Amino acid sequence: MKAATRVLFEGENRLAALPGKVAELGAGLQRLVNLDPKNFYAAWRIPRLATLRDAGAPPERLLQAIWRHQRLRRDALHATDGRTLCVLHPGFWNRESGPDFRGAIIQLAGEPPRSGDIEVDVEPTGWHAHGHDRNPAFRRVILHVIWRGTNQNGLPALALADAIDAPLEDLAHWLGSDAESLPPANVMGHCSAPLRKFSDDQIGVLLGAAAMVRLRTKAEWFNAVARQVGWEQALWIGLFRALGYKQNSWPMQRLAELSADLNTTTHSLHQLQARLLGAAGLLPPELPRCGQQTDDYVRQLWDSWWRERDRVGERTLPRGIWRLGGLRPANHPARRLALAAHWLAEGRLVQNLEAWFVETAPAPVSAKSLVHLLCPVSDEFWSWHWNLTSRRSAKPLPLLGAARVTDLAMNVVLPWFHARAAAGGNENAQREVERRWAMWPRGEDNATLRLTRQRLFASARRWRAAAEQQGLLQIARDFCGHSNALCEHCPFPDLVRSWTATDATSTTRAH
Ligand code: SF4
Repeated sequence: MKAATRVLFEGENRLAALPGKVAELGAGLQRLVNLDPKNFYAAWRIPRLATLRDAGAPPERLLQAIWRHQRLRRDALHATDGRTLCVLHPGFWNRESGPDFRGAIIQLAGEPPRSGDIEVDVEPTGWHAHGHDRNPAFRRVILHVIWRGTNQNGLPALALADAIDAPLEDLAHWLGSDAESLPPANVMGHCSAPLRKFSDDQIGVLLGAAAMVRLRTKAEWFNAVARQVGWEQALWIGLFRALGYKQNSWPMQRLAELSADLNTTTHSLHQLQARLLGAAGLLPPELPRCGQQTDDYVRQLWDSWWRERDRVGERTLPRGIWRLGGLRPANHPARRLALAAHWLAEGRLVQNLEAWFVETAPAPVSAKSLVHLLCPVSDEFWSWHWNLTSRRSAKPLPLLGAARVTDLAMNVVLPWFHARAAAGGNENAQREVERRWAMWPRGEDNATLRLTRQRLFASARRWRAAAEQQGLLQIARDFCGHSNALCEHCPFPDLVRSWTATDATSTTRAH
């Protein structure tokens, strides 16, 4: 018997035991299984659904899906305090740290609509137990969505057990289907219909034009900073800010502003790491006791920092300034500062970037040459440890990956060169920057890109070039960022409607 056929028959044999199992289940589960009693795969799902029935409360992931797709009796919702509740928009699913949904709009009886975030917890006690009451990221929460119970935190609450539009087992079944993975219709923006009329090439032209605006905006920022502190220091500020990502760009900028002062007499890598980490307030106050190598390294950093910290004095940053919750290990600011110390110790980053720009000018655009320039070969400690309190990793850990190099290229290096070329009236260099900007390969995906793609194009599709991603981010900033989840007063759909095919083909595509 061929393997596939054998598997099929084995599956049917298992089905022979199914009626007994089905008899033990509740009516909701029986109905699901009976949808296709010959389907052995349905039998495989029974244990999961039975677990759900027996668990008492459904998993938070299911509650999030119910809220996201509004599988609720929406015309009969009441908050747990009895007020009628109208959900004008459920908000956008947030897969990063912070509340589960951003930008929702709800209306409670007799009140005007309010905009804010939604947090989903299985239990009402989750609000305090998970520390949301102490976390500033949760200050904009306007509704606590729970399974059962009553409001315990002063916020309006909605208990889903009283509000779902189908038996929980049916919803769990649906959660495992394709329907759940599709973006809900309420995510699509008003612009998605007019955008659908354009071809991929025309959309590329639109995104390319938005991306070029973004390049010039970033270049203007560098120009303004350089007028204050000079071109080289402006580059350092841009690099440090980019290493801080959106969570920690301000403390990183402050360290960049201090770096000229910190980097006075030495180019020793070790001393520079101690200075940056000490001035950042990120040195652990006590030995972490998680391995000899980590303890030795932290001890050496303190030995160096003790001798210098008076010089930095009150400019040392308080540790509390850093937002560390929910960060990926690779993005921890201590790790990024260790990398910046390599650049400072090497002492030729600006000259090397200039050589890279001139020497690779006519070549096809590739991130590899910049990876080679920005990523140190190895670091005795940081190539083996995620942070100052971690044990040695079994595998080497790069201090900078190719995806992050693309971020640095698009947000710092290319805009900085563009600003310099514009300030010097060098049109050829400007065009070369724009060529690289348009051709640079796509970078890492992120939550803003995913959401904007769904809102504008109702798809999870990705593009090939980083410039297209930049164009999408620019549209999100210019239009989505000035409207709300209902697209109220957003002029973008009308602008797209009035954009003609001639416009769409007369501009250079993003790649
Ligand atoms: S706010 Fe504007 S740009 Fe954003 S999805 Fe809605 S219509 Fe589109």
